Amino acid sequence: MKDSSQHQKRRMLVVFAHPDDESFICGGTLAKYAGEGVDITLVSATRGEMGRRMGNPPYLNRETIAAAREEELRQACDCLGIRNLIFLDIRDKTVEFVDEEALTARIEALVRDISPDVILTFHEKLGGHPDHCAIGKAATAACERAGRKPSLFYISFGSAMEHPEPYGYTRDDIVRIDVSAHLKAKLAAFRAHRCQSEIEEWVWLPDREAISRFGLHEYFIRAVRTLPQRSGHDLFA
Ligand SMILES: [Zn+2]
Repeated sequence: MKDSSQHQKRRMLVVFAHPDDESFICGGTLAKYAGEGVDITLVSATRGEMGRRMGNPPYLNRETIAAAREEELRQACDCLGIRNLIFLDIRDKTVEFVDEEALTARIEALVRDISPDVILTFHEKLGGHPDHCAIGKAATAACERAGRKPSLFYISFGSAMEHPEPYGYTRDDIVRIDVSAHLKAKLAAFRAHRCQSEIEEWVWLPDREAISRFGLHEYFIRAVRTLPQRSGHDLFA
């Protein structure tokens, strides 16, 4: 019985730059699909060791922060239901300077190995941080080479893609995920990234109040446009 369910198991590969990208940007969506039994593999290019936030009051330094952030990410993965975590061991804030071909090849190997139904990464222009844009560019090239670009979606920030036209997209390019039932897990993941989130007072308000600060939806951009008959509210449809 286990074998047959293994065969049908849906898989998602998430390729991001830093610990906390997964929780802060799309934690609700990851919790939702993990809760539905999707097997999620999170790739973090770096350990975020160049982050400016060192706890509040600061309790980390440049020597200790990498291990602390790795541990926080493991806890956040537990909160969200992510079972597989891979670090690419790239130094924080240097993703744009590593050999692009080698980085693309590493991600391509993961795509071929995991054979995910859905892949998430950053948009190479709308990523908002050089590390984000660089990992997104490499992941996109990797998906192209592996013939998996129709499975690829770009994450977006907040509710910006509620109105995608200024970014050159239309509603048909956007998948809007209802995360309203998964905000408790998202909040727990925020809190797991303690050295980054404890300076944000709202994160530590009583749960209901903190959760009310989250949007009820997270938005994703299709890497391949205008495929007919695809759902606007499910990444796996
Ligand atoms: Zn980041």
